[in-house]
Amino acid sequence: MKITFLGAAGGVTGSKHLITIGEKKILLECGMFQGRRKEAYEKNKVLPFDATKIDAVILSHAHIDHSGLLPLLVKNGFHGSIHMTPGTADVLEPLLMDSAAIQAEDAAYYSKKDHHDDTLPIKPLYNDDDVHKMLSMIRTHDREKTFRVADTADVTFYNAGHILGSAQIHLRADGKEIFFTGDLGSRGKKILTDPVRAPHADIMITESTYGGRFHKDRNKTRDELGKIIRDTYARHGKVIIPSFALERTQEVLYDLHRLFDLGKIPQIPVFLDSPLAIAFTEIFARHTDAFDEETHEFFLSRKKNPFSFGALRLSRNVGDSKRLNTSKKPAIIIAGSGMCEGGRVRHHLLHNIEDPRTTVLIVGYQAQHTLGRKIVEGQKHVMILNQRVKVNARIETLGGYSAHGDQKELVANIVETPGIKKIFIVHGDDEQSKILGNVLHKVSPDWEIKIPKPEKTFLL
Ligand SMILES: [Zn+2]
Repeated sequence: MKITFLGAAGGVTGSKHLITIGEKKILLECGMFQGRRKEAYEKNKVLPFDATKIDAVILSHAHIDHSGLLPLLVKNGFHGSIHMTPGTADVLEPLLMDSAAIQAEDAAYYSKKDHHDDTLPIKPLYNDDDVHKMLSMIRTHDREKTFRVADTADVTFYNAGHILGSAQIHLRADGKEIFFTGDLGSRGKKILTDPVRAPHADIMITESTYGGRFHKDRNKTRDELGKIIRDTYARHGKVIIPSFALERTQEVLYDLHRLFDLGKIPQIPVFLDSPLAIAFTEIFARHTDAFDEETHEFFLSRKKNPFSFGALRLSRNVGDSKRLNTSKKPAIIIAGSGMCEGGRVRHHLLHNIEDPRTTVLIVGYQAQHTLGRKIVEGQKHVMILNQRVKVNARIETLGGYSAHGDQKELVANIVETPGIKKIFIVHGDDEQSKILGNVLHKVSPDWEIKIPKPEKTFLL
């Protein structure tokens, strides 16, 4: 048995690990590379293997950097099964349809005369039909129920506590046991139940996004959110929250609901201005089996939906969204995209960022070169929808909403899994992976620790 690390090796995106067992090939994930448009397109357009020779795919969770090239895999002739949890399957459809729509929009935009640039891609990687074909090849499995893959490996999903449906993958074949974290959440994270360890494994493949960092207490984040809202309300301003549609938005809604119930914020309207986020919130609310004790205690046992409350308004169409631009009343507006690069949040920023009463509240990671990053860095002028505007709004950041576990969680996941001899560290920037590697070496000098470079193959 051998493994080749084809993505999320020496970086955080494009997760793809190919396991070869005799004649059989099993692909762990088929994620999209994200980053600068041209560079990402070059990495994504050609898969680094023959899709027709892959026997099966196992997916840990729905995020695009883990799932985003599945439709391309199918378009290129893959005809096996794609295994995942029911929760992952539920959120995968809207995510991939959105990805196909964004690719089509980008292609249309960059093929226009004004924007045409020969160095830029103008072709989508796949379309709606490819997504639908891929969705028909999904096989779902509940967590902690073992199933056979490609007639050769026994696989069990264990909760990863990262996003809805997320799983760690336990694979047994050729006398070896591999445990792959996918993306690992953390104990005590909002809404979702905690990660679960495998009963035993020889080899751990661990993510390392925050291999060198420690998170703040999550309840402090809620208190800080309350204070920011009260301060902005006192100035008669709006709070604009650029947010990712899946998970982050539901966490913010959950905290707002708790703050309203506790009487810690005034009754101001909350607008959820994103059709995709509305769709995910509805899916999320149906998966009550995924919710933790706190969510049961404060919401479900009181017959309340954690993500729905009196002050919440859903802006389903563009007309609803535009009406918000003319209103001068205090409000909380949650809109995508999370890094302000697309979506309706740009219109809200354009109309409000010059107003000193406004607060722009950043709740997620902002990649380099994005509008969100420029705002966070405190640039005094920014370009929004081709207009230069002055930033007079207050800019606040809440760092406590990460869906990834910190160093403490990553180490605990390994220490508490009996049998580990070898560890591969993936899905992290170099520095984070190295810090985690050094810490693990101190925990147990007996562990063989590798930080694989892209396309490196190892015998297992
Ligand atoms: Zn993820």
